[in-house]
Amino acid sequence: MSLAALRVMVVEDHGFQRRMALRLLADLGIGQVQEAAEGAAALHVLETASSPPDVILVDLDMPGMDGIEFIGHVAQRRLARAVALVSALDPALLNTVQMMARAYGLYVLGSIEKPLSIEKLEDLLTRYEEHLLEVEKDDHVDVDLVDLRRALREGEIVPWFQPQAEFSNGKVVGVEALARWERDGLVIRPQHFVHLLEADGLATELTDVILEGALRWKRRWQDDGMRLNLSVNVSPATLHDPGAADRYQQMVESHGLSPSEVVLEVTESQLMADAALGLGVLARLRLKGFGLSIDDFGTGYSSLAQLSQVPFTELKIDQGFVFGAHAQSRKRAVVEASLDLARKLQLETVAEGVEAVEDWQMLAELGCGIAQGYLVGMPVAAEDLAESVRRWRAPH
Ligand code: C2E
Ligand code: CA
Ligand code: CA
Repeated sequence: MSLAALRVMVVEDHGFQRRMALRLLADLGIGQVQEAAEGAAALHVLETASSPPDVILVDLDMPGMDGIEFIGHVAQRRLARAVALVSALDPALLNTVQMMARAYGLYVLGSIEKPLSIEKLEDLLTRYEEHLLEVEKDDHVDVDLVDLRRALREGEIVPWFQPQAEFSNGKVVGVEALARWERDGLVIRPQHFVHLLEADGLATELTDVILEGALRWKRRWQDDGMRLNLSVNVSPATLHDPGAADRYQQMVESHGLSPSEVVLEVTESQLMADAALGLGVLARLRLKGFGLSIDDFGTGYSSLAQLSQVPFTELKIDQGFVFGAHAQSRKRAVVEASLDLARKLQLETVAEGVEAVEDWQMLAELGCGIAQGYLVGMPVAAEDLAESVRRWRAPH
């Protein structure tokens, strides 16, 4: 779908602002535009329309029904596919509204600060197009358990790789392996199958398959002169497998590599659920020299006491706090506190979800160690990694 084919609605009480939005949309070639000056009138238009608009641009601060209430109605009655917030309000409040809309299952494109500009609008609407592509690729994936087991056995589940770059000099120093199911020319993301494998008792097999595949590539890149640390996600069940530490060590060494070049990632929430049980395996992995990373940090409510008990070497700040942190003081506060804690515990720090140059700059200033996110590179098939690394240029 091209931008021009989008159907957009503008809900804005201020006459001048509304006309400006309409003019900018026209400048972008968008012809199918509806408008309303307040929430109740907009709802009426939407309810009588033959099909919902793709995107509604909503001013949050309106007399009568405000934008927050309006979005609640739109979400509950599925009157649009996506909304974007237009406002001069506090970013923390915008964030709350976004979370509310997402909780209702409405896609939130993000928010634009007034005044509107053609660049801001284009950026936002392009995001909607990208979202559509993702949904088409990804949304309706039927996964059959028998087929999934076969896929794991026959090597259809493989690691893709996302680069990690140092903030200080922009150099790509590592990759995270992310599982992908390459099925009939389609690429299926882990959210569609990892939990199924775990529920089916195949979690350790998955970790083994991804680790083994990733080590093979790491070895190849190294032989080609590209030295990259490797991060691999481990399933909770791995932490209950007493043989895991020895097996991983053998796998790593069989490729002529050292555990010190490999980081195993455990999510903060899974760690807390299994803390006592998993400690033995984690301690043994650490003893053998593997790095250990707390993934999705900030989402799992671990206490400082718990954190200090586990021999972690790295803290990975969850993307929910990283994305947009430069513009949102609360996110920034969580990022700063995480970096402080990491420094005190002498942990390496990785920020996930670095998409915006402004977030990169802020994290660099705060002394974060490593960046991972679409800005540096998307996850790609192993064959495409070298090219992705070559294309990357760090912001100044
Ligand atoms: P994760 O470990 O937190 O991995 C990061 C996820 O964020 C990846 O999604 C990655 O594609 C995505 N991402 C990276 N940079 C950005 C960015 O700048 N913006 C945004 N919006 N997203 C970004 P992916 O590959 O779909 O993986 C989802 C989750 O599936 C992973 O989250 C991890 O928990 C799990 N997973 C992936 N591979 C494996 C695996 O081999 N084993 C296990 N047990 N779990 C895995
Ligand atoms: Ca991870
Ligand atoms: Ca993560």
